[in-house]
Amino acid sequence: MTGRYFLLALLFFVAMGLTAAAVFSAHGRISRTLALTSAQPETSKDSSDAMKTTASPEYSKSGYNIKHLSQAEIDKLATKLTKADADVILAKGTERAFCGNLLDNHKDGVYVCKLCGLPLFSSDAKFNSGTGWPSFFQPFDKDHIAEIVDKSYGMVRTEIECARCGAHLGHVFDDGPAPTGLRYCLNSASLTFFEKGQELPPASQPVKIETAYFAGGCFWGTEDRFQQVPGVIDVVSGYMGGSVKNPTYKLVCTDETGHAETVKVTYDPAKVSYHDLLAWFFKFHDPTTLNRQGPDYGTQYRSAIFAATPEQLTEAKKFIEEQQKTGRYKDRKIVTQVESTEQSGPFYKAEEYHQDYHLKHGGSCPIPSDK
Ligand SMILES: [Zn+2]
Repeated sequence: MTGRYFLLALLFFVAMGLTAAAVFSAHGRISRTLALTSAQPETSKDSSDAMKTTASPEYSKSGYNIKHLSQAEIDKLATKLTKADADVILAKGTERAFCGNLLDNHKDGVYVCKLCGLPLFSSDAKFNSGTGWPSFFQPFDKDHIAEIVDKSYGMVRTEIECARCGAHLGHVFDDGPAPTGLRYCLNSASLTFFEKGQELPPASQPVKIETAYFAGGCFWGTEDRFQQVPGVIDVVSGYMGGSVKNPTYKLVCTDETGHAETVKVTYDPAKVSYHDLLAWFFKFHDPTTLNRQGPDYGTQYRSAIFAATPEQLTEAKKFIEEQQKTGRYKDRKIVTQVESTEQSGPFYKAEEYHQDYHLKHGGSCPIPSDK
């Protein structure tokens, strides 16, 4: 083999290796998603894990609104930029090495997008790369960063932008330190730093979310339908209202633990009200069949509302009274159980293979076109 062909062959195998690594990492993710795990009492970790698989594209895993801004909104924000900042943020320029004001910033805090305020990096992930530009080994939230292939200057690099406003931030390289092996190379001009304890502007704060719990038969369908409701951020399948701690699906199916297949809905109350969720819930299932939904029979399939606040409790009871009076159910009585989460006990996240069941296996349930 001549040196030239050897080099070509070497390049080919390197490329193949990278492809294999990509496939392997994709598979690793799938197998983690499908892993069989027993139910755990709910913790903040559980809900953030769930966000990874079901978060709506409008919201990030960490609960920020990341819907892409319109050009008019971007133009309005851009009027506050200095010429030097605009050269980097809008014209994709690069500031000179060792010249940015945040390179040597070692304070604890968060780095937000200078244009739209979205948190992009945390001081926890900052490291000294020696390159002359602020460097981080991971973003604040992966959903907050968009990656674009950049073929300028005869190189193939990965440009990074703010996912919400498209502000140019810098590039990401795969020569960073553990644990990610990545180096996010930033322009100071693209960032605004807020020290820990400093009040963040509204644009840099997460959406104020609320939680609701509904049981309406098999949770696969209930989860799938609620996930499609505008304003719903995340839906997790689980068990609630029973007498055993950390129930498994097998245990719940004995019909002896008293748990109902329940979905935990996190939502943006500015977009969808609790009353609207109740209305959707009553569209999604039949609240008049005791301990049964269609062919599914047993207490785990009962209709129930577990109210997370006194206000939800009052509203749910009132809603049911009103529904009964509409005549929609004729002489059939609404049997939906309504109790507070203090009475029902905690929500236990179901095994991973029950999460996003329809997303993984197809057979999605359409939601009614009217509420
Ligand atoms: Zn931005």
